Amino acid sequence: MIEKTSRGRSERPKSALRPDTAVAPGGAPDEERYVTAMPGCCLRSLKEEALVEAGERRRLSLACGCGREWWITSTLDERVARRFVTHGGPRVGSGGNSAA
Ligand SMILES: [Zn+2]
Repeated sequence: MIEKTSRGRSERPKSALRPDTAVAPGGAPDEERYVTAMPGCCLRSLKEEALVEAGERRRLSLACGCGREWWITSTLDERVARRFVTHGGPRVGSGGNSAA
């Protein structure tokens, strides 16, 4: 018995990205949002890119077939971080903005 296999917690399903990755439209970091708010096609493109085996150099942005371009502004997903350069943007999810 290998101890590793009993601690399966760190092994996430290969197809899932962490939802706490934040993106912004290329050139508009103020419009930062979570990946879960992206159009479906763009989210799919991001997944495909992130799950490709590393080898190419990191990309500056994600270009989807629909014509949109996205910057990754922050991510805790190591696969996304490995594939994309992250652009610093305004903080997301710091929880202080619920004035309304
Ligand atoms: Zn798209």
